Amino acid sequence: MTPSNLSPDNNNPMKSDVVILGGGLAGLTLALQIRQQRPETSITVLERRRHPVPVSAHKVGESTVEIGAHYLADVIGLRDHLEQCHLRKYGLRLFFDADKSEDLAGAGELGGSGLLSQRSFQIDRGVLENHLAERVDREGISLIGGATVRDISLADDANADHQNHRVVYRNDDGEHDIQARWVVDAMSRGSILKRRLGLAEDNHHACSSVWFRLSSRIDISDWSQDEAWHERCRDVPRWLSTNHLMGPGYWVWLIPLASGSTSVGVVFDNRLHDFDRLKTYAGTLDWLAEHQPLCRRAIDQAGGELQDFLYLRNYSHGCRQVFSGKRWALTGEAGVFLDPFYSPGSDFIGISNTYIADLVQRDLSGESIARRARVYQHHFFSFYESSLLLYRDQYPLFGHARAMSSKTIWDYVYYWGVLALLFFSNRLTDTDFIHRHVVMLDQLRRLNGEMQTLFRRWAEVEPPIDPRGLFVNQTHMPLLVKLNEDLGQVVDDSLDQLDARLVDNGEMLRRVAGELCLMAPEGARDVVTLHQQPNPEDEPLLAGLPARFVKPVTVAQPTAPVAQAG
Ligand SMILES: Cc1cc2nc3c(=O)[nH]c(=O)nc-3n(C[C@H](O)[C@H](O)[C@H](O)COP(=O)(O)OP(=O)(O)OC[C@H]3O[C@@H](n4cnc5c(N)ncnc54)[C@H](O)[C@@H]3O)c2cc1C
Repeated sequence: MTPSNLSPDNNNPMKSDVVILGGGLAGLTLALQIRQQRPETSITVLERRRHPVPVSAHKVGESTVEIGAHYLADVIGLRDHLEQCHLRKYGLRLFFDADKSEDLAGAGELGGSGLLSQRSFQIDRGVLENHLAERVDREGISLIGGATVRDISLADDANADHQNHRVVYRNDDGEHDIQARWVVDAMSRGSILKRRLGLAEDNHHACSSVWFRLSSRIDISDWSQDEAWHERCRDVPRWLSTNHLMGPGYWVWLIPLASGSTSVGVVFDNRLHDFDRLKTYAGTLDWLAEHQPLCRRAIDQAGGELQDFLYLRNYSHGCRQVFSGKRWALTGEAGVFLDPFYSPGSDFIGISNTYIADLVQRDLSGESIARRARVYQHHFFSFYESSLLLYRDQYPLFGHARAMSSKTIWDYVYYWGVLALLFFSNRLTDTDFIHRHVVMLDQLRRLNGEMQTLFRRWAEVEPPIDPRGLFVNQTHMPLLVKLNEDLGQVVDDSLDQLDARLVDNGEMLRRVAGELCLMAPEGARDVVTLHQQPNPEDEPLLAGLPARFVKPVTVAQPTAPVAQAG
């Protein structure tokens, strides 16, 4: 049967080229992406909930970073909606040792005093999903709300007597059967394919989270009376950043939403913090009073209504297979989920959707996709595994200002220099391009693994510095400014320019590793194999870091506040 035979007509609405199970962020954006790339494709989305869904407190996953923001704004075409209905995100901002002082100026800070060029957003998930559902509807995609997926039979099931996949769902009218050439599972943790095919995989990253939404605004700028502290970020209201309060084994997020609500979450390593203590709102407030008293106080002062309180134990998970040449796939949290720390959730939705939309389009055009599906999956898992190293076993160092700030700089450079570059330049599905660079990408992956070990050891062997007055200002670091800016330009690069850019970035990453090794304490740096030692004559790539950060003065007891930021 050829794909076009499967297109539904008015007499037989229960056939589709593609059926997507679950109409959340991953499912709805995938439907739009496939429709954009191949408008004649018939697509059905089965979603358990009905739209409109509630705003302000719908789902978790409110902060975006560069890949996810670019995917939503430019690939899916939501830029106007994002600009008008959500908040522009003013970067990531970390505070260290905020618990040791009555005034937030006493904490070490990593963030920007200005904005980097690539825009990202703080998203109200309810508002976004309602908008996506309207767009899907306008595009003539069949979105069936109130439809719970009950069963699935794949075309290659041993006892299948059909060439299409079959999905059974239930809605108010009873049970229905839908047939499709492609089935994509976007049902998040309820994934039916993962269960049916036994694809679940433990990725040994055991962390948990609790979160809640308050109807009021928490403005972190109110936590300090220090004029110098306010002055150094005069041009960027700190509350618009994704603010993270860092501590050993945990971080707390504060994310503002356009509705005026604030999302607050605690994320922690199960080995270092007690899930049972945190899993009620009262328990979380009690925990915050102990670990982040300024935050606890701000919650009281903000007032407002508690809109929800949710928790998730062991949020991170792997998956043995996500794409199949036999015309099925998993996307979003149905497949893998890493960690919320750098907000990679929507990044990986953009990445997997891009691979899936390409496979669907090729298959429906009559191309054989079995080999390509295997190659895409190999690349997808290599990005996933390399990103997992950023989080797994790293939570113990999260409260260590110098090790964690160094790690954050490295993680940004690696992310913008490699993965974001591949995504923004639209090269993920260009297997020749990836093949040309595969050796270097692999070496960088290994180097990243070594650097993550270095940061872990760094925190173990170096006594913490007094962080007062320390400001690691990302927007004063020319390297970070350039890498972020480059992402806006790569789309116009010729292939030769792009090849050269990626090779340069690889070289630059090795030099950054060299410079960070020089800053790291003995007993940490020897884990990194550098084939080339840093050349003192080279312009330092990490220019812009405060001197006190580069050559720390460690003190046993906190001293008087340092007035001037570095
Ligand atoms: C603590 C935490 C914090 C996070 N923070 C961020 C962040 O800041 N930024 C970010 O990008 N990501 C974040 N994420 C990840 C983010 O939640 C995911 O990226 C995103 O929600 C996944 O989208 P999805 O479409 O896979 O799942 P969902 O949006 O949950 O969609 C799945 C859909 O499937 C439907 N469904 C389920 N079962 C059935 C069924 N049987 N029949 C029909 N429909 C069904 C559900 O109703 C739902 O609408 C975070 C995750 C966690 C755990």
